[in-house]
Amino acid sequence: MSINDAALPTAHGAAGTLALPSWQAELRAAVRDPAELERLLELPAGALGLAAGTPFPLLVPRGFVARMRKGDPNDPLLRQVWPAAAELQPAEGFSADPVREQGLAAHGLIQKYAGRALLIASGACPVHCRYCFRREFPYEAQLAARADWAPAIAALRGVADAKEAILSGGDPLSLSNRRLGDLLARLADTAVTTVRIHTRFPIAIPERVDDGLLRVLRGTRLATVVVVHTNHARELDSNVARAMTTLQPALTALLNQSVLLKGVNDDAETLAALSERLFACGVLPYYLHLLDRVAGAAHFEVDEARGKELVAALRARLPGYLVPRLVREIAGELSKTVLA
Ligand code: SF4
Repeated sequence: MSINDAALPTAHGAAGTLALPSWQAELRAAVRDPAELERLLELPAGALGLAAGTPFPLLVPRGFVARMRKGDPNDPLLRQVWPAAAELQPAEGFSADPVREQGLAAHGLIQKYAGRALLIASGACPVHCRYCFRREFPYEAQLAARADWAPAIAALRGVADAKEAILSGGDPLSLSNRRLGDLLARLADTAVTTVRIHTRFPIAIPERVDDGLLRVLRGTRLATVVVVHTNHARELDSNVARAMTTLQPALTALLNQSVLLKGVNDDAETLAALSERLFACGVLPYYLHLLDRVAGAAHFEVDEARGKELVAALRARLPGYLVPRLVREIAGELSKTVLA
């Protein structure tokens, strides 16, 4: 992944040089050096064990680092982004393409769910999540952004019954507001009625929720659903909460999906705190995914029986609208499989 889809500078700084929008500056300044991350967190050098030479390098914005606990090698936010030595251990049943979607994208469009079509809108991300099922996705070959989206839109028009376009990636909010606006205008000129945006940007870099984005979202005729991705309540600090409450009125729905991750959120207390914090930010919990078995992520796996136990525990203590659906993605199925 890269930031090659991010917007060009659009404003001038005081010294006459081109200045980046603050979210892009934050992305440029993200921590990429594991030794620097250890220093920032006041951890002894080499304390964490590193997957040296991994092709999926460390990338974490400084604002996200600021939410980690200093001196804690087991911090749940750190664990999500640290390239741990355990990633290099081969594990049976874990592969580069766990949901078997590589090669499915024609012109950046994947049609695996009934009534919906998924666009690979960008290969860039605001943070590299170690458990990401697309960590080895060949973005260069399968992006929808080519030729001003025209081939992808033509492919979408050919999908019978496609009512919803799902923008995914990478992260679609790594597109500039201008490019995102252009894409939404083109989608609005098809038969789809809803656009869904899967994004971790408002969590990783809340500055992404800027006036230009709000204008783009308010300006489309399409029903607009944003599904953010949060795994732990501490990801939702006051800056993120502000971004969420700014974003929410511009949308039809604001939902969250999480991945159930060992050592991050695999206890009822943590998951309940996440649901409650999401609600306080105006976001409803939607899905809790069992891990997709991508190579390098075996140390995050929580089994299905434990997942069901945890959702039952949530149901016993929270109102139904705060209990996410436990789901698993099974390659070839026309929708996610709901387990609890
Ligand atoms: S989970 Fe989302 S933000 Fe994280 S690396 Fe994967 S696509 Fe990027």
